[in-house]
Amino acid sequence: MSDIINILPDSVANQIAAGEVVDRPASAVKELLENSMDAGASQIDLVVKDAGRTLIQVIDNGSGMSDSDARLCFERHATSKIHKSDDLFAIHTMGFRGEALASIAAIAQVELRTRLHDSELGTTILIEGSHITSQQPTACSPGTSLAVKNLFFNVPARRNFLKKDSVEMSHIEEVFRRITLVHYDIGFTLQSNGKTLYDLKAGSMLQRIAQLYGNHYKERFYSVEEATDIVRIKGFVGKPEFSRKTRGEQYLFVNGRFIKHPALSAAVEKAYTDMIPERTYPSYFIGLQVDPSRIDINIHPTKTEVKFIDEHALFAILRSAVKKALGQFTLATELSFNTPEEFNIAPAPRGYVPTQPRISYNPNYNPFHATTQPSTKTTVQQIDLPDYRQSNDIETLPIPKTEKAVDPPNETNSVCMQVQGRYIVTPLPSGLAIIDQQRAHERILFDRLCKRHTSDSSQTLLFPVNCSFSPADADMFMELIPDLKNFGFGIESLGQHSFVVTATPTEFSENDLQGFFDQMLTDYKSSSLQKFSNRNQSLCLSIARQMAVKAGTTLGAEEMQQMVADLFACPMADTAPNGKRIITIVKPEELLK
Ligand code: ADP
Ligand code: MG
Repeated sequence: MSDIINILPDSVANQIAAGEVVDRPASAVKELLENSMDAGASQIDLVVKDAGRTLIQVIDNGSGMSDSDARLCFERHATSKIHKSDDLFAIHTMGFRGEALASIAAIAQVELRTRLHDSELGTTILIEGSHITSQQPTACSPGTSLAVKNLFFNVPARRNFLKKDSVEMSHIEEVFRRITLVHYDIGFTLQSNGKTLYDLKAGSMLQRIAQLYGNHYKERFYSVEEATDIVRIKGFVGKPEFSRKTRGEQYLFVNGRFIKHPALSAAVEKAYTDMIPERTYPSYFIGLQVDPSRIDINIHPTKTEVKFIDEHALFAILRSAVKKALGQFTLATELSFNTPEEFNIAPAPRGYVPTQPRISYNPNYNPFHATTQPSTKTTVQQIDLPDYRQSNDIETLPIPKTEKAVDPPNETNSVCMQVQGRYIVTPLPSGLAIIDQQRAHERILFDRLCKRHTSDSSQTLLFPVNCSFSPADADMFMELIPDLKNFGFGIESLGQHSFVVTATPTEFSENDLQGFFDQMLTDYKSSSLQKFSNRNQSLCLSIARQMAVKAGTTLGAEEMQQMVADLFACPMADTAPNGKRIITIVKPEELLK
């Protein structure tokens, strides 16, 4: 019998390890940017082609490497950052496993050009699938340029697993934001397929936010700052009126590194309690400085999760720091002890006109869930705030109809009654129809928008409104303008990622156009929406959802009749564009019971 155990060659071992470190172009980008920062660079340029598939190049003016370090850096466990195991507990730099370059070199063709500041010449190394194919002295500027070409060229499984360029590119941009937001003292550029998307100059954190998201962001935040023994906090928290229906820009950093930490995020959101409508979310960019030895080191460094020894204290400090920033000094908390209950009414959002006090009902009863039973307990709702909690689940596509379509009412002006501020009840030949007003309106608007032509009417705005976006969003918005014009919007580019809106569709009543388009872009980007084969449809859905009357809006008799008539004119009257049921019929037999 011969022996059967082999030691894997380094190239194979590295390729296996690479799977953990580099799973998509964005993770290679992260490693390279971190190396440049660790090398003390003050300017870092990132160049990508085809969302990083064919090229990821990072050029920095950092320390550079000697000839022999340039060879060594591609070896596994080659790192200049750890000398003994104690160092592991006091890591301040970004990477420390000495794995990244070895991994990347195992699965790509890499060209490294590097020069120490006090050397005359630099060196160029070509390495492919872990094998160095050439090394030559080169005249180049001090610092390092590392180009990763044809990522996964020798791992077809990984390559085929990559998503479309737009998706991979959005991952790269997210990595870029996570790094540049907190390293605002370093200049960065991002170039994609020959086009400069970002040119970020070193400056303050707020300037960096504005460079990334557009100048209008400068007015959207309060600064938050706090220094205690456990933590130093510095950052920006969104003004309550700019809270969004989707979790948008929520960034937490610890010691210069982006982290996800549900409990700390909850601490920030807690500070907004009673200041923003339910199911809307604030934006924030908050950096924490914590003694590295108070962070659990067992957490995998490529992951964004961390564990704090002082989590409870951190939670409390963070929440009160944010509260303070929002102008809700501790005084407010004290006041609430002796303020009568009825004065504790949540502030309404801008532009909200209160409706009449209304009848009592059981808010938990939803006739669209077959399983929820109407309970006998009713609650008296004193002020019936509209339901801003628009569902965020746009995941479902129109479903094929399983049941026979509902027959329309016999008379055109049949009796309609509004129940709970969210359902329209009306008699139909087949029974009593309970119609979800918001979903019905979404269906009507969606069908109307999908059919719209440029020739249809639009209303010119008396006062044109300016909107501006982040450079990447502005690009996307630019692409969507022809579709938006089709819907009746009048939009012109002002350059500098700004636009002026001069007209809106006739039935459009939204005042906050910036918020409206921000939400539309968020919806458009969300991968679930990309399931729509046709981008026009996905825009129609986003616009219809935003324009539809929400549950909680009181409707007049005529409005209800009109809505019912419009709904039954739709070919798919019983299903909302997101696939949810609009109409429930209570059959005559059931009524009899
Ligand atoms: P780690 O960053 O964990 O040490 P890497 O594989 O990312 O491991 O890098 C290995 C080593 O190569 C680093 O420790 C550093 O000494 C060197 N290095 C990598 N990138 C650069 C760079 N841009 N400039 C200078 N040195 C670099
Ligand atoms: Mg590294």
